[in-house]
Amino acid sequence: MKQLLLLFLCGICPACRGGGGSWNYKSGDEHGPDHWPVECGGEGQSPINIITEETTKETDVEAFEFSDYDQVPLRSVLINNGHSAKLSSEYLSKSMTPRVSGGGLGQSYRFGQVHFHWGDAASLGSEHTVDGAAFALEMHLVHFRDDLEDIGAAVAEGKQDSLAVLGFLFQESETAHPGLDQLLAHFPRIQSAGERLEVPSSALASLIPEQADLSSFWRYEGGLTTPTCNEIVEWTVFKQPLNVSAAQLDQFRSLLTHYGEALVNNFRPTQPLNDRRVRMVQTDSPRWCSVFFPSSALRISCPVTLLGVVSFVIFYQI
Ligand SMILES: [Zn+2]
Repeated sequence: MKQLLLLFLCGICPACRGGGGSWNYKSGDEHGPDHWPVECGGEGQSPINIITEETTKETDVEAFEFSDYDQVPLRSVLINNGHSAKLSSEYLSKSMTPRVSGGGLGQSYRFGQVHFHWGDAASLGSEHTVDGAAFALEMHLVHFRDDLEDIGAAVAEGKQDSLAVLGFLFQESETAHPGLDQLLAHFPRIQSAGERLEVPSSALASLIPEQADLSSFWRYEGGLTTPTCNEIVEWTVFKQPLNVSAAQLDQFRSLLTHYGEALVNNFRPTQPLNDRRVRMVQTDSPRWCSVFFPSSALRISCPVTLLGVVSFVIFYQI
């Protein structure tokens, strides 16, 4: 298990692999997806092609509840790890870290990090495909089960529900995603693989547009889409794609890999569904809650707790 954990940590930390990165996304390459570690050959791998006609429809599932997604982290670090652009954030306390529950997850999950997958053209880039069609960009909000310490502990535990990843598909549009600009503005300073930069923090909610439809999504049991491909992820892929502009996509494509090449097409090919099923879940609109220090980014739609009111009064000295 320790070896698995080390492999995973190295997967997200190129520095400990001598900066070269021992796996890549190049098809046909000796380090490409066909030659990833043996664990990546399991029966429950990700991503998958979602065949909409073969999904199981479910409507008796409670809506998602997003808590403290409006909290501004103490510190945020943007990293080009040679495989993706990743944002990791530290919050004031465990209890003030964004959490997601409901939506049929069965558990509460705390936010760990967000990263992206994209292509060199708008017709490809996403990891999940829908009826064979790819999207220009896919954003993964990685969460670990609330009773665990962090993502590393979730990998070490290795249960099917240790992690929950929320996947958002993006289509190229005339309309930019305003929440992405605050990250993309810093991309010139993380152009080379291995570069990391502390960036001004903003609430996680800013990456999810207010008009986003979070009531329809696909759910299936899968795994990490990078080595060592641990099958420990409850996957959610939201049905409605978000918008991203051509200029924003070009900023993603400006990053470089460990080989000094354009960091593009950093998606794993879709994997066999085997005997798994994909649920097409339809719920009410999600509830947005803030337990501590409601901020201006808040979209409260659940009862504000007494603790929230007290902290709001103290914070703003009302
Ligand atoms: Zn991912």
